[in-house]
Amino acid sequence: ETLARIEALEPQLHSFLHVTAEAAIAQARRVDAKLAAGESIGLLEGIPIAIKDNLCMRGVPTTCGSRILENYIPPYNATVIEKLEAAGAVLVGKTNLDEFAMGSSTENSAYQLTANPWDTARVPGGSSGGSAAAVAAEEAVVSLGSDTGGSIRQPASFCGVVGMKPTYGLVSRYGLVAYASSLDQIGPFGRTVEDAATLLEAIAGYDPRDSTSLKVKIPHYSRAVKPNLKPKGRLRVGIIQETFGKGLDPEVETAVKAAVEVLQELGTEISVISCPTFGYGLPTYYIIAPSEASANLARYDGVKYGLRAEEADNLLEMYEKTRAQGFGPEVKRRIMIGTYALSAGYYDAYYLKAQKVRTLICQDFQKAFAQADVLITPTSPTTAFKAGEKTDDPLSMYLSDLMTIPVNLAGLPALSLPCGFDSQGLPIGMQMIGNVLQEERLLEIANAYE
Ligand code: GLN
Repeated sequence: ETLARIEALEPQLHSFLHVTAEAAIAQARRVDAKLAAGESIGLLEGIPIAIKDNLCMRGVPTTCGSRILENYIPPYNATVIEKLEAAGAVLVGKTNLDEFAMGSSTENSAYQLTANPWDTARVPGGSSGGSAAAVAAEEAVVSLGSDTGGSIRQPASFCGVVGMKPTYGLVSRYGLVAYASSLDQIGPFGRTVEDAATLLEAIAGYDPRDSTSLKVKIPHYSRAVKPNLKPKGRLRVGIIQETFGKGLDPEVETAVKAAVEVLQELGTEISVISCPTFGYGLPTYYIIAPSEASANLARYDGVKYGLRAEEADNLLEMYEKTRAQGFGPEVKRRIMIGTYALSAGYYDAYYLKAQKVRTLICQDFQKAFAQADVLITPTSPTTAFKAGEKTDDPLSMYLSDLMTIPVNLAGLPALSLPCGFDSQGLPIGMQMIGNVLQEERLLEIANAYE
């Protein structure tokens, strides 16, 4: 059914870069056989799942939406893929994304534009736009994305689905193509909180192959979301004051405030909390993320992976031509910003300063969590915008992650939850942020709201 749905919708949506139909059918048959034999089954047995194309799957092209990895076929699986396979999932294909996860609309993909299923003239958000659109359009039951500054939550909001970025270190990054390693996290998309929780449960856990992986016991997230469960005990919800100011679409503001009222009716205590450094998140991110990206992307030299430029007279020229041909404009822009910010003489003024501000942002969040158990913001200042609307203006594109970026800088878990529609019928998302490793509580409240 899922494959038929993909076939029917892909000519309009273009969520997938690669569909693994044969392998999916083979896995579905194995599940059938297991069920027929009365064998016990895994958490995700038979569930069709789509995978963002920056996660390595053995034997399946992994392009990262980039020409430079056009012919790259990984010889190994990301840890999350191993875990999904062990849980019996049916992996249906690789989804479109902004090149190397750099973007907020999936328009930076070198291959295709993905349409928002609610209005195909609009973007699905990004960078995990393909994974969000696939779940919204029922081309998969759930999907995986990655979130460095909002790339799961913002497309979840634009496509009207649930998307979660876990605490930094909860999910192994082994086999996730690195963008900004101190910020990257893999996370789930689902049409319900329960679906997202179940997928998170399957992928979370310590992995010695990721040096930033946390050694913690993983709760049964799927049990935190039993139907009709009311959040336990007295629960304090804090609205981040700074996110309700200038630049916020009034319809988004109305919907998120109405959602807060629902939380109040559920018995939570609401207060308004100030995070004075919240607004420094965006400029801090655009120093730190490009700096890390410029180092991470140094490996694409035409020797180790994918594309190699023809007709170079010497090694250096081969490097230069490969990178000039292989990377798109946004990736080049970030490599230039990053190498500049890290260069001698500028390092202290930019990179080091940004790291200090990052610490202040973390401290502000900790002060906020002394007053509230969860924090609420809109996920994005607007609903889905039209394709082409922001492509010539990188700064306005960067602004769509204003609300989500500080969360990555502080390593916190957060999810985006659908909370209504604007007058054009486009979905609106509310962001719930929890303190480190408070996923269970976040999912519980989100489920109670849902
Ligand atoms: N849109 C942000 C960026 O362009 C965040 C991307 C992400 O989370 N991968 O960097």
